[in-house]
Amino acid sequence: MVNSCEGKSVIVTGASKGIGKGIAAVFARHGAKVLVVARNLDQADACAAELRAGGRQVSAFVGDVTNRSEMEEMARVAVERNGGIDILCANAGIFPQSKLEDMSGADWDTVLSTNVKGMHFSIQAALPALKRSKGGRIVLTSSITGPVTGFPGWAHYGASKAAQLGFMRTACIELAKYGITINAVLPGNIKTEGLTDLGADYERTMAASIPLKRLGSVDDIGHAAMFLASDQAGYITGQTLIVDGGQILPESLEALNQA
Ligand code: NAP
Repeated sequence: MVNSCEGKSVIVTGASKGIGKGIAAVFARHGAKVLVVARNLDQADACAAELRAGGRQVSAFVGDVTNRSEMEEMARVAVERNGGIDILCANAGIFPQSKLEDMSGADWDTVLSTNVKGMHFSIQAALPALKRSKGGRIVLTSSITGPVTGFPGWAHYGASKAAQLGFMRTACIELAKYGITINAVLPGNIKTEGLTDLGADYERTMAASIPLKRLGSVDDIGHAAMFLASDQAGYITGQTLIVDGGQILPESLEALNQA
C-alpha cells in the first residue's frame, strides 16, 4: 500500500493505551502528525513521549469524549499544532460488564454516553477542519461484539457497538458531499495491556478459539485503520472491516477442531 498518511494530521481518541495507542503508533510510524487523546494526563503524556521516539510527531491532549466543549478544544488544538485535521480515529470506548438482571440505568448511561454520544461529539468537533481537508477520513473502532457476536455481561456494550454502525450508515450519506468518508474497524480479541493482565492461560484459551490461533495485535487494528484512512480507500464509505483472525466464522467447535 502506498503510504498516503505522511504529513497528515490525525486525531486518535482513547489513545493512551490499548488499541488507540496501537493506531496512533502505526500512523506516527508512517509520518503522520498524531494527537493522542485521553482523560488521564500522565498516561496521555507518557504515551505521546514513547511514540515520539525517533523524531515522530506525536503530542497529547487531555479530553473526555463525553464533554462536547473538551472535544471542541481538542479540534482547535489539533488545527493549531498540526495545521488541520485530515483523519479522526474515534476509538475511545469502555466495556464494563454487567448481567441483564443487575444492569442499572446508570450502567446504560455510562456505556452509551462514552461509546456512542462521545463518538459523535468527537466527530462533530472535528468536522469543520475535516471539511477543509482534501479527503477527510473518519475511522470508528466498533467491535465484533454487538454487530456480529454476543458475550455475557456485555448487552449494553454490544448495543453501543452496533449503534455506532447505525450512526455510521447515516453519517456516510451526510458527509459524502464534503468528500469525507466514514468506516468502521470491528476488532475481535486484541492483545492489550488489560488482556495481558488476565494471564497466559486466559490468552491461550482465547487463542485456541480463533482459526489463526493467536489474538490480534494492536498493530493489526492500526493497519486496518490506516488502510481505511488512506487515499487508496477513497471510494469506500459506510463500510465495516472485521479484523478478528477468522474468529466469527467457525459454525461450531467441531468446525474449528476438524481443520
Ligand atoms: P483500553 O485499553 O481500556 O483503552 C481505552 C482508552 O480510551 C484509554 O486510552 C482511555 O484513557 C481512553 N478513554 C476511555 N474513556 C474515555 C473518554 N470518556 N474520553 C476519552 N478517552 C477515553 O481499551 P481498548 O481495549 O484498547 O479498546 C479501545 C476500543 O476498541 C474501544 O472502543 C473498544 O470497544 C474497542 N474494542 C476493543 C477490543 C479488545 O479486544 N480490546 C475488541 C473490540 C473492540 P483514559 O481512561 O485516560 O481516558
